[in-house]
Amino acid sequence: MPEMMRAVVIARYAGALEMRRCPVPRPGPGEVLVHVHASGLCSTDLHLLSGRQPLGELPRIIGHELAGEVVGLGDGVTHWQPGDRVTAAIDVTCGQCRHCRTGETQRCPTMRRIGFEIDGGHADYVTVPAANLVSVPAEISDAAAAILPDAIACMYHSLINQGKVGIGQRVLILGVGGLGIHGVQIARSAGADVLATSRRPERLALAEHYGAVPIDTSRQSLETEAASFTEGEGVDLVVDNIGTRASVRQGLSVLRPGGNCWSSATSTRPSRFPPCASSRASWRSSAAAAARSRI
Ligand SMILES: [Zn+2]
Ligand SMILES: [Zn+2]
Repeated sequence: MPEMMRAVVIARYAGALEMRRCPVPRPGPGEVLVHVHASGLCSTDLHLLSGRQPLGELPRIIGHELAGEVVGLGDGVTHWQPGDRVTAAIDVTCGQCRHCRTGETQRCPTMRRIGFEIDGGHADYVTVPAANLVSVPAEISDAAAAILPDAIACMYHSLINQGKVGIGQRVLILGVGGLGIHGVQIARSAGADVLATSRRPERLALAEHYGAVPIDTSRQSLETEAASFTEGEGVDLVVDNIGTRASVRQGLSVLRPGGNCWSSATSTRPSRFPPCASSRASWRSSAAAAARSRI
């Protein structure tokens, strides 16, 4: 094992990412050392770099979408072996509090996140709690595995765990970027009929390819299209990946009575969204595996 490694750090906000030589971390009790084979560069990393989403102590090695190979075990780790291919859930939680015990780990009051409050995967090596590891089968590449804990887990949590999406339900996905395009596929796999919005033709084409009805909000009315799609009833579920007051308002405006609107977006502004219009719908922040609950 080398003594030193390369790492991409944020040393100061509003600067540039820096490549540094850092000591290879040693796994503590219950931790595993992972040799990183793939680490996703996420738009969230740009928010972190800007300082709009403070990380606490700097410098920090960022990178919250990682995949690699187990190369070292801390004391007490028994379920993993060197050579195991893994990815890692982002949230490091206590596992003891009421939220953790009821599957709402994203609300754990002591939660810290890999690549945010603790060092992440933009490095040759990273230490990760063994409890956060997920085994990666041989047929999934490192690059594909790396995005599982963020773009896919986040959408899965919003749509399936929280939204309870099923056959015949009507789902609106606001914004089909990195998260939304996976949301389209998950909702379709669950049997839902899906509307997807964007202003970018290539994203809409991809959403359509995966079975969504695309709405180009630069030239189409979401309200009109949603009304036509649902025979005027409104959609059952909105998943908002944009995270602005306007997008939440837009989502609420096309919900059926009793429908749900979940926001999976990162926002750096305080949450002062409008209260839901009476009985029409409910709005919640979902937050799956990552830093998405901060609105
Ligand atoms: Zn990410
Ligand atoms: Zn907890």
